Amino acid sequence: MDYLPLFLQVRNQRCLVVGGGDIALRKIRLLKASGASVRVVAREISSDIREFLADTDDQLLEKRFDDLDLNDICLVIAATDDESVNRKVAMLAQQRQLFVNVVDDADAGNAVMPAIVDRSPVVVAFSTGGKAPVLARLLRQKLETLLPQGYGRLAALAGECRDMVKARFSQINDRRYFWEKVLAGPAAEKALMGDLQGARSLIEQTLENTSEQKTGEVYLVGGGPGDPDLLTFKALRLMQQADVVLHDRLVSEDVLALCRRDADYIYVGKKRDRHARPQEEINALLVELAKEGKRVLRLKGGDPFIFGRGGEEIETLASEGIPFQVVPGITAASGCASYAGIPLTHRDHAQSVRFVTGHLKDGSYALNWNEMLDPGQTLVFYMGLLGLPRICQELMDHGRAAQTPIALIQQGTTRNQRVFTGTLATINKIIESEKVKAPTLIIVGSVVTLHETLSWYKNEKLLEQ
Ligand code: SAH
Repeated sequence: MDYLPLFLQVRNQRCLVVGGGDIALRKIRLLKASGASVRVVAREISSDIREFLADTDDQLLEKRFDDLDLNDICLVIAATDDESVNRKVAMLAQQRQLFVNVVDDADAGNAVMPAIVDRSPVVVAFSTGGKAPVLARLLRQKLETLLPQGYGRLAALAGECRDMVKARFSQINDRRYFWEKVLAGPAAEKALMGDLQGARSLIEQTLENTSEQKTGEVYLVGGGPGDPDLLTFKALRLMQQADVVLHDRLVSEDVLALCRRDADYIYVGKKRDRHARPQEEINALLVELAKEGKRVLRLKGGDPFIFGRGGEEIETLASEGIPFQVVPGITAASGCASYAGIPLTHRDHAQSVRFVTGHLKDGSYALNWNEMLDPGQTLVFYMGLLGLPRICQELMDHGRAAQTPIALIQQGTTRNQRVFTGTLATINKIIESEKVKAPTLIIVGSVVTLHETLSWYKNEKLLEQ
């Protein structure tokens, strides 16, 4: 982040606005809406500003700005149409360690004005750091439509009921569950529609009928292959309400960043990792945390039921009687295939597709290679990077044609995605010089030839070079 987002209490504090036109007026309105007193300094102050500030104790100084205007000021806004004046204001203000915003010239000052969606006491403020005001405006439009007008009423009502709920539940987790239930339920609907009386009595009823939570719950969630846009709505919802997050290296940073910020995070590594926890330990940890009453998110890369050991984790939960939910994710095969422009099936190329583990158990493959020879079958190998030479050799030895196309997709769907293509006979040579990094998915079959024409996803890293 280039800036620290913050809400300032400016009620009855003096703020300086340098400038006397329409832009200055907009800023003055904002400051007044927050209860500030203003000092306006400009060679010419518009009648609109005079009218707006009539009968207040605000100061209107029709003169040239000078350093003394900064006395007793807590915040400065430079809003003249003269860049050199704005810059001078910014410089002098910063010499006095004051925060100063320069309209349309973020770099000149040290504070930026956010775009605002006001549902007081709920206020959403966001910024592009002055880099893309139009984007901020578009985002604001979206948020305006997302946040019903009644949100302020709802927040105010929640504030009124806070002590009552605190008195009922001693544990912070119980209070959180209660509020999540209420704020997503009929009481909230009533408040949004303006029926505060009805909303309040529903909250009181719910309060009476809710018992303290004893056992938590486990959410086994597929986080997809990397691009956070590929998450499901349900995954996102559960990610944002879990108290504890157990994640491993396959879950991308961008996806992890969407989990609840104040949740506890436990890194459980993965198989080839030195810091990995054995699977049994992870299973036991899930049980333990749920028994403490927590909502535990077990976040997996891709889909939890595809080479994810998800089955083992929920077996333990089931045997301990712990409630759980499983949320599917986009598995690496779907994600990588789409983002590499390789349809896994195609009328002219492949009538079936097989997902295979390329992970060697005890140094050998217990795979039935004879079932993988049909040229009309696409093969997708997970965890196959280390075993790639062996996989290609076995397929050829058993009779799949040496010129069968093959693709390696590294870090598929992410900004670092790279795709290497060749044939069973050539791919090892091709990737020898490249530093191919995990995770990598292997696709074998004539569908790979479509990559040339159907590829659409341009990886940012390569474009930069
Ligand atoms: N449950 C996961 C798979 C876990 S096994 C899923 O459904 O996708 C781990 C293997 O998945 C890796 O070795 C790699 O082969 C593959 N994989 C996962 N994410 C990937 C990605 N973003 N790009 C390429 N391969 C990926």
